[in-house]
Amino acid sequence: MDKKPSSKVHLVQKNASLQHMHSFGMTVAADFLAILTSKNQLNDLQNNPLYQNNPHLILGGGSNVLFTRPFNGLVIKNSLKGIEIVRENDEHIWLKVGAGESWHAFVLFCVENQYAGIENLALIPGTMGAAPMQNIGAYGTEIKTVFSSLTAIDLSAGKEHQFNTNECEFGYRSSIFKTTLKNKMLICDVTLKLNKRIELNTSYAALDDYFTEHGINNLSLKKVCDAVIDIRQQKLPDPKKIGNAGSFFKNPYVSPNVFEKISSQHPNCPSFPGENHNLKIPAAWLIEQCGFKGKRFGDVGVHKLQPLVLVNYGNGTGSALKHLAEKIQQSVLEKFNILLEPEVNIY
Ligand code: FAD
Ligand code: NAP
Repeated sequence: MDKKPSSKVHLVQKNASLQHMHSFGMTVAADFLAILTSKNQLNDLQNNPLYQNNPHLILGGGSNVLFTRPFNGLVIKNSLKGIEIVRENDEHIWLKVGAGESWHAFVLFCVENQYAGIENLALIPGTMGAAPMQNIGAYGTEIKTVFSSLTAIDLSAGKEHQFNTNECEFGYRSSIFKTTLKNKMLICDVTLKLNKRIELNTSYAALDDYFTEHGINNLSLKKVCDAVIDIRQQKLPDPKKIGNAGSFFKNPYVSPNVFEKISSQHPNCPSFPGENHNLKIPAAWLIEQCGFKGKRFGDVGVHKLQPLVLVNYGNGTGSALKHLAEKIQQSVLEKFNILLEPEVNIY
């Protein structure tokens, strides 16, 4: 008799450690863990009482989550793989990518093949599936600029849905998957429309200055990608060496009136123009003004080079880190009357 490939989820573990599955690296466990390597496994899992009787949490690379307590439920780790050409013409190529593919490895793949549009997003940790979830962005580029569509499965009804750009409701480090559909839709694959005609974006001073300082000209996709990697490696802590989840807070946007009040007291307050005449203030600057840069509180702290990054020195707990985040919020609120919003997903 022919043996069909089984769609059974073999990897349901009980009382599974998540310590090495998230970049803060805290000691934390989940009641159950399932690792999905095919969409069929999700159908199978959904018929399992263990799935029906427990809350769910979707996990990719774990680089944007903070666990403040054990997860009493089922963690579904997305490891759906594959890269496929959907369509191609002289100007663009549409690539459909499995949600469990590494984002950074995909950026390198695109740069190597001269597909432009995401080179500024090099070295962002995590998976393809989580990238639209918070509309990842860096150095003036966001995933929404190359986004075409995605497929997601409704975790309660088990039905598959397609989402186009409008339906994703992309915003600044946000999308519908981080708001109303959070933990309700499991993103299975993402289709991106990359450019064959290369237009580079070096609008961020950090990038432009890098080329000037290093005497680099005749820019290419690879040179931009390499520069982004180098700048990030110099400034950001490597989660493999020191636990962190990148920027803990979003940069706040304020109205021109609010900004005027702040800058009358703090004339050196930096700002960047945003939508509807609002102004973006770097949260890192606000946190530094409150004296937190480089400060350590037990086994958690604020990074010495980038105060927007909160770190776990090794034995820090999720609740200690959350407490520090709240202390920072309170301090920024008192000094500037701005409430910082966490970017990291806190569980
Ligand atoms: P996870 O941390 O596993 O999950 C994040 C959230 O998405 C969770 O709520 C989870 O439930 C949900 N999720 C994950 N996968 C899916 C899925 N398949 N379907 C539905 N929901 C899902 N972010 C930026 O935007 N720009 C940066 O420049 C940047 N730099 C960073 C630098 C460092 C050093 C670190 C540690 C983080 C940085 N981040 C940055 C944050 C983070 O890397 C991104 O948000 C990344 O997209 C998270 O991917 P992940 O797979 O690790 O997601
Ligand atoms: P930076 O270059 O020191 O700039 C500080 C802040 O000013 C950034 O947060 C950026 O906002 C803003 N900014 C700078 N130049 C700008 C411009 N020309 N137009 C509009 N806004 C501008 O920042 P950094 O901390 O070293 O980070 C560099 C890039 O990597 C940033 O885009 C940042 O978002 C990204 N990054 C993100 C994370 C994360 O976890 N989300 C972690 C590390 C780095 P934006 O953040 O809105 O770009």
